Amino acid sequence: MNPYQHGEVYVTEDGAETDLDLGHYERFTSVTVGRRNNFTTGRKQSIRARADGVDIVITEIGGTVGDIESLPFLEAIRQLPYDVGRENVLYIHVTLVPYLGTAGELKTKPTQHSVNKLREIGIQPHILLCRTDRYLPPELKQKIALFCNLQKDEVITAKDVDTPYEVPLVFHKEGLDRLIVEQLRLQLGEPDLREWDSLVQRIKYPQHEATIALVGKYVGLKESYKSLTEALVHGGIESATRPIIHWVESEDIERRGAERVLADVDGIIVPGGFGGRGIEGKVSAIRHAREKQVPFLGLCLGMQCAVIEFARNVAGLRDANSSEFVPDGPTSVIDLMSDQRKVEEKGGTMRLGAYPCVLEKGSRAHEAYGRTEVLERHRHRYEFNNAYRDRLTKHGLVLSGLSPDGRLVEIIELPHHPWFVATQFHPEFNSRPRRPHPLFQGFMRAALQHKVGG
Ligand code: GLN
Repeated sequence: MNPYQHGEVYVTEDGAETDLDLGHYERFTSVTVGRRNNFTTGRKQSIRARADGVDIVITEIGGTVGDIESLPFLEAIRQLPYDVGRENVLYIHVTLVPYLGTAGELKTKPTQHSVNKLREIGIQPHILLCRTDRYLPPELKQKIALFCNLQKDEVITAKDVDTPYEVPLVFHKEGLDRLIVEQLRLQLGEPDLREWDSLVQRIKYPQHEATIALVGKYVGLKESYKSLTEALVHGGIESATRPIIHWVESEDIERRGAERVLADVDGIIVPGGFGGRGIEGKVSAIRHAREKQVPFLGLCLGMQCAVIEFARNVAGLRDANSSEFVPDGPTSVIDLMSDQRKVEEKGGTMRLGAYPCVLEKGSRAHEAYGRTEVLERHRHRYEFNNAYRDRLTKHGLVLSGLSPDGRLVEIIELPHHPWFVATQFHPEFNSRPRRPHPLFQGFMRAALQHKVGG
């Protein structure tokens, strides 16, 4: 999947490569989703199969009404009431109500058109969620309701907010929760939103800020780092620190040098990625972090680059590289495992989904997690090359996380540095606002320390 076309590729625990919306579901609810929650051909049987043993199935159909590719999905949900009973299906339609600055007016036309289109397909929505930048006044709701065959209170303002975690609070204020409960005739008491409310307050009004450089290749497309930027926000809650993301194109570091580009940052992240473009810029950024004692977190490709940097500049392996970028290079410190080599076909060899990792006692990773074994999600093909283990550890690299059989290096870190940790897995997929990821928490704490102390 190309992040330019699809946004982030979100990896589930069971190793499915899915749409970033599933990440939002995991962050907002405490469920763990998987392969069975994402399907790309529309069949109501698929929806019904998911319903086995659960009370409520939320089915989200992406795209725009009228797109030919979403038609089979819409047809599937149109037929659903015939199987499960009309009273057991609720259609909620998301539409746009733009504000035209020059006219000083909110426009209902796009909503009317979209609802008409949906009705042509045979679906009358029960509730409208109107995407807008301000609360819709009652007269406007009345007007939309009239044209769309709804009651006024079934037209809900879905207002832009500062943090996505505020969305449920706005919906509560608009009465959406009550409406859904009533229409589906569920027996539920009043919601208790106190904990969520205080979480939102802490995210919106932190005491501190820290500038975090995100050194990547797709920085033109911020959506493809959604889980990562959310994990940073979660990680900052405990230290009351808001991450200010400084998007850095790694090629800009190649042109202008790490010193210049990264002069004022409090932390550096090199995230995951594929392909060799911009690699040297990432390696320079990591060197800067290591030498200047700037907190560093490397994720997947970011860890591989950290190994390359350490091999070149500390262990004296000048030609160190990954065989992803230099296929038959002399010093592939990052390489395919021998059993993967046999399966050459692209995609076939990817290590996907959750794998256990055993932590070295007394390491920073162990200290952060407070446990000796963790489960983290992977999405990569290349690995730390064990032929270089001795050479690199002799020069001070700590392999603080390994697969249970000891064959795969999952975490590296440097002692004598405020925070230099890099993981072969993607911890960002396991971060939740109510359960921030320990590595992001540790990193944000170190970044704040860097700011205050430096
Ligand atoms: N390109 C690297 C690999 O395939 C890293 C992948 C990633 O960062 N997700 O191993």
